[in-house]
Amino acid sequence: MNDEQAIQLRERFPDELVGKLPRVTCKACSENKQSRHCASHKMIRCPECGNWITEAHMHLDYIGHAATTDRLLKVDREWTWYPVAYDEQGLPRIDANGGLWITLEIAGVKRLGYGAADGKKGPNAVKEAIGDAIRNAAMRFGVALDLWAKEDLHAGDAEANTAPPRPRSATAATAGEAQQPKEAGSAAPSGDILDVAEVEKMKRPITKPQQRRLWTIARNDAGLSDESVKNIVVAITGQESTGAIPRYQYDQVISEILGAAVA
Ligand SMILES: [Zn+2]
Ligand SMILES: [Zn+2]
Repeated sequence: MNDEQAIQLRERFPDELVGKLPRVTCKACSENKQSRHCASHKMIRCPECGNWITEAHMHLDYIGHAATTDRLLKVDREWTWYPVAYDEQGLPRIDANGGLWITLEIAGVKRLGYGAADGKKGPNAVKEAIGDAIRNAAMRFGVALDLWAKEDLHAGDAEANTAPPRPRSATAATAGEAQQPKEAGSAAPSGDILDVAEVEKMKRPITKPQQRRLWTIARNDAGLSDESVKNIVVAITGQESTGAIPRYQYDQVISEILGAAVA
């Protein structure tokens, strides 16, 4: 592996490839299995993670399988992985915890990784364990290391660290503290799968109807001057024109506009 490849592996991911996994922070909300919120919190369509979920939640940043694979391919088209152990049938050996040890090889360098299925069953469990193990091993090459480091800082001491450190995102739902995005009836990526095509689409500018709607909301509902709208757009997106707002930032701009509404 040359220096350039090593640096490329560590490069920061653009914000739009960083997934937001919601984690409910209110115990009462998470214990209410029916309405999924408590008396002091209401349900919202969260502009950041896109879930229909109690307002009492935070976000864990994560890089999905597809974005990780994309990064590995960019650095070494011939990257590969293989299981550390095989079972009697010659298949990758899954350990007693449902986890899988792998060797990840990038540009001739081999490093170990460990992945788990996190409650998934059947064929999905195997796929999840493989993807998780690749992300874990890739972290040892520096892929998305900044996110892992942040997650580890927040992990706290209660965490049993028998396995190599794994993103909190992958374990968030297992403690019964969080609703899986799927359960929350969400449009957000389920589990850790980040669809590259979907991400590319969200990077494109908003549509004409969205742009018109934005101006209607800003002028009629919020009563803002065109100048204030422009300032908000620049502050959030760095773009001068509302027509250049990327789709993934549309909701954020709208909620900012509504927040700045003239009373
Ligand atoms: Zn609550
Ligand atoms: Zn959210």
